[in-house]
Amino acid sequence: MKPMQDVKDITIIGAGPTGLFGAFYAGMRGASCRLIDNLDQVGGQLTALYPEKYIFDVAGFPKVLAKDLVKGMAEQAFQFKQPVHLGEKVLDLQHGSEDGQPRFTIVTERDAYRRAAC
Ligand SMILES: Cc1cc2nc3c(=O)[nH]c(=O)nc-3n(C[C@H](O)[C@H](O)[C@H](O)COP(=O)(O)OP(=O)(O)OC[C@H]3O[C@@H](n4cnc5c(N)ncnc54)[C@H](O)[C@@H]3O)c2cc1C
Repeated sequence: MKPMQDVKDITIIGAGPTGLFGAFYAGMRGASCRLIDNLDQVGGQLTALYPEKYIFDVAGFPKVLAKDLVKGMAEQAFQFKQPVHLGEKVLDLQHGSEDGQPRFTIVTERDAYRRAAC
């Protein structure tokens, strides 16, 4: 089994629009972050279900194709170089301790990701 991944301040499950903007905001506030998604690409429903559909209700865009919105959101999010782990389903959240400090571990089909406790 691989050694556990390093500790991040924030682990975001799901790289849809919510997760991508969360990753951007984490970076903007100086928090370390990773994204995990079951799918093999970012964008959630926009990428998986309707990449060619226009969206009309995003502030600042009279209309934008879903795939173009995802492209912009990914570029915005990944300027902070957060790792993204695709094709990995999150199965469990375990709570334990390490060196006397509480720790959460997010378990996927392939790996275990540590996160500092709040
Ligand atoms: C056909 C259609 C058209 C739409 N049109 C519009 C529109 O015009 N305007 C609008 O505002 N909204 C629209 N929506 C709604 C919009 O797509 C959603 O509100 C949006 O995708 C929610 O974003 P999200 O990031 O919260 O979730 P999602 O896009 O659902 O992303 C969640 C991500 O989490 C991942 N995930 C979930 N569980 C796990 C797990 N256990 N482990 C790893 N990964 C996991 C999924 O793989 C997914 O990639 C539409 C929806 C559909 C279906």
